[in-house]
Amino acid sequence: MYAQIVVDINHAAVDRFFTYRIPDALPVRVGHHVFVPFGQGDRLKEGFVVALSDSTDLNPSLLKDVARIIEPYPVLLEEQIRLARWMHTAYHCLFIDALACMIPAQLRGQRVREKKIRTVSIAPGVNAEEQIALLQRAPVQQTVLRILLNAGAEVPKSDIGKLLPGASAAITALLKKGILTESDMQVFRKPSSPNLHDVPHALTERQQAAVDTIEAARHDPEHNTVLLHGVTGSGKTEVYLHAIRACIDADKQAIVLVPEISLTPQTVGRFSDRFGDRIAVLHSRLSVGERFDEWRRIRLGMADIVIGARSAVFAPVERLGLVIIDEEHESSYQSEKSPRYSAIDVAAQRIRETGGALVLGSATPQLVSYYRALSGRYVLCSLPERVAGRPLPDVEVVNMRDELLLGNNGIFSDRLVELLSTTLAKGQQAMLFINRRGYSTFVSCRSCGYVLKCDNCDISMTYHKSESRTRCHYCGMVKPLPEKCPNCGKPFMKQFGIGTEQVEEALHKLFPSVRSLRMDTDTMRTKGSYERILSAFAAGQAQVLIGTQMIAKGHDFPNVTLVGVVAADTTLNLPDYRSPERTFQLLTQVAGRAGRDEMPGKVVLQTYTPQHPIIRFAREQNYPAFYQYEIMERRKMLYPPFSLFLRVVFADRNEEQVADACIAYSKALEAELRNALGPDGQNDILLLVAAEAPIARISGYVRYQLLIKLLRTRRLPSAVRTVYDFHSAHSDVCAEVQLELNPQDMY
Ligand code: ADP
Ligand code: ZN
Repeated sequence: MYAQIVVDINHAAVDRFFTYRIPDALPVRVGHHVFVPFGQGDRLKEGFVVALSDSTDLNPSLLKDVARIIEPYPVLLEEQIRLARWMHTAYHCLFIDALACMIPAQLRGQRVREKKIRTVSIAPGVNAEEQIALLQRAPVQQTVLRILLNAGAEVPKSDIGKLLPGASAAITALLKKGILTESDMQVFRKPSSPNLHDVPHALTERQQAAVDTIEAARHDPEHNTVLLHGVTGSGKTEVYLHAIRACIDADKQAIVLVPEISLTPQTVGRFSDRFGDRIAVLHSRLSVGERFDEWRRIRLGMADIVIGARSAVFAPVERLGLVIIDEEHESSYQSEKSPRYSAIDVAAQRIRETGGALVLGSATPQLVSYYRALSGRYVLCSLPERVAGRPLPDVEVVNMRDELLLGNNGIFSDRLVELLSTTLAKGQQAMLFINRRGYSTFVSCRSCGYVLKCDNCDISMTYHKSESRTRCHYCGMVKPLPEKCPNCGKPFMKQFGIGTEQVEEALHKLFPSVRSLRMDTDTMRTKGSYERILSAFAAGQAQVLIGTQMIAKGHDFPNVTLVGVVAADTTLNLPDYRSPERTFQLLTQVAGRAGRDEMPGKVVLQTYTPQHPIIRFAREQNYPAFYQYEIMERRKMLYPPFSLFLRVVFADRNEEQVADACIAYSKALEAELRNALGPDGQNDILLLVAAEAPIARISGYVRYQLLIKLLRTRRLPSAVRTVYDFHSAHSDVCAEVQLELNPQDMY
């Protein structure tokens, strides 16, 4: 027998299958993690068995043997190996990188071991009562036997030690006499989650219809993807819980993806309340040992429901019947490092293979998803109302230009101050949201306009008040705030823009006794701080929570009745075709934080462009109207979903080299593309420009980019393949060359 093996070396030169002979004594199966002799001196390397065969075209006498099996069970499912093949083609990544997604990092390189503990039990055939009577002279040994007799099972040695001083010597003596036996018990380190005493709700009619739709989709491969569009608080999670119940009752398993940031103990608690220890949790905040153990519980069939962030889409469940992706519009479902996969696409591919259904849920679906739903590729299912007749929050738009005319040049409008004071007076809570993306607190000279920039990156420095210095958000470089302008020498350097710190300061000026919490990337540096702040706020330890995107989602705060958006339009005009969509999503999500419980909620959007359609749709929380407007814009401009963007980023310390490389690459690729597209497809290339990247320098590297926009026609797949193939052959033209399909953040 022969095995096809992918060797665990991260290099394009070995990105293929190697054939090894399987010695008769080794029960090698597909998916096994093995050691094989490889390269010079036949050093042992780790590898994965991806196929077996009876024969080979190669000369068998030249083949080497598989050295040994590492884990006793195959660590990869055959389905996962097929998925890796698919990723290899679809994302143009190394095969080993695709496989690496499916197993915990700890399994490679043997860094963590299974946790085992020594246990003791009464040896078979021993009459414990009799022995106790015989051991009059050894009271400790007697007690040990009584403990074991009462337990009626094996007990960890360390547990007995804790109960009984001197137990260790007594156990040793009993073992020696053959009265006890010793063994190893495997334990699984488990992350804890609180018990919320959440009970299943009787579903509303619409919720029931959604559950029925998902059940139907599970049995209909032609219509297996459901877009669940439900406003915030419409009971989507309840729908997921019922759909999962139906799925596991049919002896299938489910994967639930949640954005990392919403994967709080509360979220997990809701699932574990319903499904107990049949759930497994996978996310980056678990300890290394916990993650490995959770993965192993899934692989060994001890869990039926996996809840996790993006990478949990690869969980090794053997009887997959349902994948649920909550908040499907979240950009965190797109991987930003190789393999640059989309969890939604990977889930769709898995479901195609295994059967079952894919559910995409959101209050603000991606434009592309809604487009697919309307064109029949997805089944659309709507929950247009909040449960229990709770109203959607009332959204007010405040024109900040008017405020300025009235002499108010502060951060808060008069209206927001008024509502803040009534909310706080009633003992209720408020959230203040600052959209920090693209909104820098930069430092500039008021006299000459000089802007303080990072020495390594073409980016303005951000002022951090608590540190009294400036920081580059791309490379981390720190600089003091200069007293005099480095350009004109005048003492007029001042910070501009609003950050969470300034909002907090302004709040305390208005309401000196208010207690507030702040949540942004700066206060989130230490592990666990996210959960600490959220639970402090939930426990009422502060009345106001001030934050960036991070507070836009997360869990319910029943006492929050006011949400203030300090500047609603900051992201609207960023140079990215997705800015309107992202702004609408963000505003709708933030607004959804208000009035989740019995008390009605109020939302204030402060903006300089109150007449902008996106602001209007956000005020009305009218997704369909937003969709109709924005899809027209996309069609007009031929933006996705009517086209596809690709980007190649070139970076090098040598400016001349990177510019030349980018331009040469661009010309050669254009020729290939034109050739591949044929005479009918010449107009498919909508854009192909080589230029400096928006951030022309990062960490001392000069950056160029090639932006490619292709019309979505039936020729597109072959065009993309052409780009991939070309890229493979030309990825070494300067220090770094990266190809991105659907680039998320184009900096
Ligand atoms: P979403 O995920 O759409 O934001 P949730 O599923 O969290 O909504 O539901 C919002 C609130 O309504 C939760 O507190 C939930 O317990 C409650 N809820 C959901 N469905 C029902 C129902 N059928 N009857 C009563 N309460 C419900
Ligand atoms: Zn920098």
